[in-house]
Amino acid sequence: MPFAPHILINTPEIEIWPGGLLRARSNPDARALARSRHVLRRKRDGKYLAAELPEGLLHLVQRLMHEPGIDDALDALESISMQRRAGLDVVGELPLHRLLDRLEQLGLDEGYGEGSGLELIAEPSTLAFAGFDRYRRPLWLHRHASRAWLHMRDAAHRDDIVLEAISGYRSHDYQLGIFERKLARGQSVDEILTVNAAPGYSEHHSGRALDISTLEEPAAEESFEKTTAFDWLTANAGAYGFVMSYPRDNPHGIVYEPWHWCHG
Ligand SMILES: [Zn+2]
Repeated sequence: MPFAPHILINTPEIEIWPGGLLRARSNPDARALARSRHVLRRKRDGKYLAAELPEGLLHLVQRLMHEPGIDDALDALESISMQRRAGLDVVGELPLHRLLDRLEQLGLDEGYGEGSGLELIAEPSTLAFAGFDRYRRPLWLHRHASRAWLHMRDAAHRDDIVLEAISGYRSHDYQLGIFERKLARGQSVDEILTVNAAPGYSEHHSGRALDISTLEEPAAEESFEKTTAFDWLTANAGAYGFVMSYPRDNPHGIVYEPWHWCHG
């Protein structure tokens, strides 16, 4: 589907999923989700907050209207639905102030960005459905990256190359959650940074970055560079607007990532 009909509406604390893509965790939720037009989901822990049904909003938590960010989410649902009906499809960016507050709480100040030459990356206000990843999870990308990925994947297939998406858009909250869980287990910020990108600085936040693999090849391993899929990407990805962000000896001090490609 070159013009993906599904979009994820993104707000600072809450994501709004189109109906039909999320799996239920309990039977009453399953019935509601099956009929829902949209599902409101808390970004921090993935909890389902409400389902928009044809007859109105079904609350899936107590005190929904006290949920942080609920006003922003309901406003975005209304205004983006209206824009889409009018044929407008504008992708904006969310503000960074909430991320900055949370980075400060973690003790990750701007020194990290200065030291690595990386910049804070905003999340887009909407993401386009780009099919499913290797694990059958919905893959979300920036609208332009989504279209380019689907075209590139099909072109590779015509050359008998299978490209599999491993991971696309990831929210600030997702990355913050990894940090918070590891800090709670007693690791230091510096230890975590040797393995995980600092929240806010990953190209995956923009919805333009994509980790790619191929059949019978593990995810995110340097051995990907030995595959015919990697040779194909090296020769062709540029024509679709994708560039390998972290080649060997890149100036950011990030390990070589032959699987990570970003749409410009
Ligand atoms: Zn990546």
